[in-house]
Amino acid sequence: MDKVKILETYLPADAAPLIGRWIDYFKCEFKISRNRNTKFGDYRPPHSGKGHRISVNYDLNPYAFLVTTVHEFAHLHTWNEHQHKAKPHGTEWKLNFKKMMQPFFEKDIFPADIKHAITGYLNNPAASSCSDLTLYRSLRKYDAPKDSVVTVEKLPLKAIFKLKDGRIFSKEEKLRKRYKCIEVNSKRVYLFSPVAEVEIIENQNNG
Ligand SMILES: [Zn+2]
Repeated sequence: MDKVKILETYLPADAAPLIGRWIDYFKCEFKISRNRNTKFGDYRPPHSGKGHRISVNYDLNPYAFLVTTVHEFAHLHTWNEHQHKAKPHGTEWKLNFKKMMQPFFEKDIFPADIKHAITGYLNNPAASSCSDLTLYRSLRKYDAPKDSVVTVEKLPLKAIFKLKDGRIFSKEEKLRKRYKCIEVNSKRVYLFSPVAEVEIIENQNNG
């Protein structure tokens, strides 16, 4: 499947082509992470034969996914320019983040409140980490409601979900093209299509 097509399922569609070009241009290994991390994303500089690596969590809403992706690419760009000489979220990184956010502002991709929160974040010299609360809160507002419908392939392993008929399952490993799922009451095994739509009840990895 085409890279931009995949990116479009996670990012605002208008943002996907440029992120696709960055992945090529910076020769970056870009991974959509299915692990639930406390961090939204991660950047690793080239190390022992491996190139730039970025991973972004799969379960972010499209705006949070884009802001996180640009955040990590700003780390990459800052690394290319300064290596160890620049602090992770120092002035060099901030300048690059601002610059790299610009094309998405020009395309008018963000709703006004997110744009406002990003601008505030970029112009506040004290805001130095990824976890700026105003920005975080404005991004969280666009998360889908917790009980919304998702496809089986997007669920983390061991997630508990419900079908329309009320039966409850736990998601297990993938067997060839389908996912093994166990009906909680009967303990019987069923195979689900990756795109079957279900309602998530609880994420066991999340405690
Ligand atoms: Zn960071």
